[in-house]
Amino acid sequence: MGLCKCPKRRVTTLFCFEHRVNVCESCLVSAHPKCIVRSYLQWLQDSDYSPQCPLCQAPLGDRDTVRLLCYDVFHWPCLSGWARALPPRTAPAGHRCPQCGGALFPPPNLQGPVAEALRARLRTAAWARPGLGLPLVSDT
Ligand SMILES: [Zn+2]
Ligand SMILES: [Zn+2]
Ligand SMILES: [Zn+2]
Ligand SMILES: [Zn+2]
Repeated sequence: MGLCKCPKRRVTTLFCFEHRVNVCESCLVSAHPKCIVRSYLQWLQDSDYSPQCPLCQAPLGDRDTVRLLCYDVFHWPCLSGWARALPPRTAPAGHRCPQCGGALFPPPNLQGPVAEALRARLRTAAWARPGLGLPLVSDT
């Protein structure tokens, strides 16, 4: 536990392994989009980390990224390609984080900077629209 460094000065359990600072969800999204972030407790237990995309093993800094609700980070093209390769009838609940098995789609009532950023990103992908409860074809 600690205070984050952004103007919100939130008490947080999250810790950026790369910059070695406490982060709240707000500064996490704005200032640490590609950083490995875990709980401070995990940092104390094991400060090892690899700033790589779990799907292609290349450095996260190389490409556009997306962070899931579990805080795992992937290259967006890698995650999108992985999701498109799932069987076409995979239910939204069948979409899980390839790294930890956590839910991929934020529940509709979930607020917070990480959920909002993830939703905004998912909205751009045709495969993700059913999972977000959006119609398959956009009105435009
Ligand atoms: Zn903050
Ligand atoms: Zn960071
Ligand atoms: Zn990748
Ligand atoms: Zn995960």
